[in-house]
Amino acid sequence: MQLKKLEFHKNENKNKIKRMNLKNKEKLEYVSIGALFKTVILLIAMLLSACVLYAQPVYRFTVKIGIDKETADSLGSYGEVSKRVVKMFQTINAAFNNEALGITGYYDFVPDMDSLYIYEGSSGVERKPHPHHDYLVIMDGFRNFPDEGHGGWFGSHHQTIGHDRGHVPGKISDPFDEQATDGIIHEFGHARGLIDLYAAAVDPSRNPINGMRFQPVTCIMNYPYGVRHWSKYAVNILNLTKDKIVNVDEVIANLLPQKINIVVKDWHDKSVSGADVRVYPVVWYSYSVGSEPVWTGKTSDDGIYTFPDIPFIRQRAYGFKYCNLLVEVAYGDRKSYGWMPLYLVQNAFFDGKESFELEIILKEGHTLFEDDLSVRVKK
Ligand SMILES: [Zn+2]
Repeated sequence: MQLKKLEFHKNENKNKIKRMNLKNKEKLEYVSIGALFKTVILLIAMLLSACVLYAQPVYRFTVKIGIDKETADSLGSYGEVSKRVVKMFQTINAAFNNEALGITGYYDFVPDMDSLYIYEGSSGVERKPHPHHDYLVIMDGFRNFPDEGHGGWFGSHHQTIGHDRGHVPGKISDPFDEQATDGIIHEFGHARGLIDLYAAAVDPSRNPINGMRFQPVTCIMNYPYGVRHWSKYAVNILNLTKDKIVNVDEVIANLLPQKINIVVKDWHDKSVSGADVRVYPVVWYSYSVGSEPVWTGKTSDDGIYTFPDIPFIRQRAYGFKYCNLLVEVAYGDRKSYGWMPLYLVQNAFFDGKESFELEIILKEGHTLFEDDLSVRVKK
C-alpha cells in the first residue's frame, strides 16, 4: 500500500513534469507566434511610414469658375461648358504633374462644378473675393465691355485668373481651345509663385551697349504655347511654395545667395585684376538694356568684383527693380559681356550656395556673336 502510494506519487510527479513540459512548450509556441505577429506588425508599420515618407505629397487647390454669358451661350449647353471645364483642368493638372522634371508634389487643381456660375457684366467686376475657394477663374471669350480683354494673373488682389480671350472684335474666341489652355497653365504657374521669365528678354534693337539679344530659358513661364516644360528655376519655386497660397513678389524677394561675384579671367584661365566692370540694367518687361550702368567697379587682385549690395535693387513690386543685368568687363583693348538674369542667380540660392559667380573670359579682340557670351556660370 505504502509502495503503491509511493508509486502513485512517483507517477503523479512524472505526470506533473510531463504537464509542465507540455505547458512550457505551449508557452514557447505561444511566444514564438506572438513574436512573429509583432514582427509582422512592425514590418507593416515600417512599410506604412516609408510610404508616408516617400509618397508624393498632394497639393490640392479648389477653383471657383465664372463664365461670361455670351461665351457660355456659344458653347450651346451647360453640359458642354462643364465638359470643357473638366477637360481643361485635366490638361492643367497633367502639365503640373511632371515628376521627371523634379516636381515633388502631386498637383490637383479642382474645379468646383457646383459653384460654376454665368455672369453678364464686365469680367473686371467679377474679380472679387472668393473666401470658399483657393482660386477664382473668370473666363471670357467675348469683349462686350471696353475694359475687357486684359487677362492674366491678378494675384495681388484676389488670387484670380482673368482668362480673357476676347481679342477679336465682335467674335467669340474659345477660352477652352489649345492655345487658351496653354495660356491658363502659365497663369496657374503665377498662382504657384512663378514669375514671367520672358520679362527678362532683350530685343537686340533695344540694346545700346552691345546689340545682343537675350532669350530666357525654355519654360512655360517664358513661352507657354505648345510647351510643356518647366525650367529648373520654375521647379525650384514650385517645390518651395508647395501647397501654400502665395504672392509672387513676396516669394522671389528673398531668394538670393549671400554674395554675388563677377569673376574675370583671361584666355589662359588666369585671373584678371584691375578689369573695369560695368553693369547695365534690364527693367521687367522693357526688353531693353539701360544706357547707363547701375554698378561700376574694378576686379580685385584675384580677379573678382563683388557687388556691394543686391545688384537687382529691391523694390516692392516684383521684389526687385531689375530682372536681368548685362555685365561688361574691359581690360586694355579687350572687352567681354555676360548676362545675369535674376533666375540664374536665384538658382544658386536653391543649390545651397553662399555665392553666385558669373565667370567672364576676356578674349583677344572681341568679336561677339549671339551664342558667344564668353561666360561660364560656376557649377
Ligand atoms: Zn505671365
